[in-house]
Amino acid sequence: MVEFDGHPHPFYSCRNCLNPLALHDDLISKSYLVKSGKGYMFAQAMNVVLGRREDKKMLTGVYTIANIYCGKCGEELGWQYLQAHDFKQKFKEGSFIIEKLKMIKVY
Ligand SMILES: [Zn+2]
Repeated sequence: MVEFDGHPHPFYSCRNCLNPLALHDDLISKSYLVKSGKGYMFAQAMNVVLGRREDKKMLTGVYTIANIYCGKCGEELGWQYLQAHDFKQKFKEGSFIIEKLKMIKVY
């Protein structure tokens, strides 16, 4: 793994403004469905701001989530799972879903 400009590589950046958003090391899954198509699940994200908490019904149950926005350009990127109401989905709590179309991979 190469490290420069302060981030272990590769990582994912905002497609709009190149703000670093998440490390490849924190990628959990590439198979989430979002509005624009595919979303990636990350254990952690950085340089993002959270919107207000809301309860949302999804295919696998009800979750308390907050939308996430790029901390630099304000682009809506996806959401963070704050709480899973279904016990079987608790592993998702704290993780981030970011739309694939909103990111570029930086090597
Ligand atoms: Zn941005």
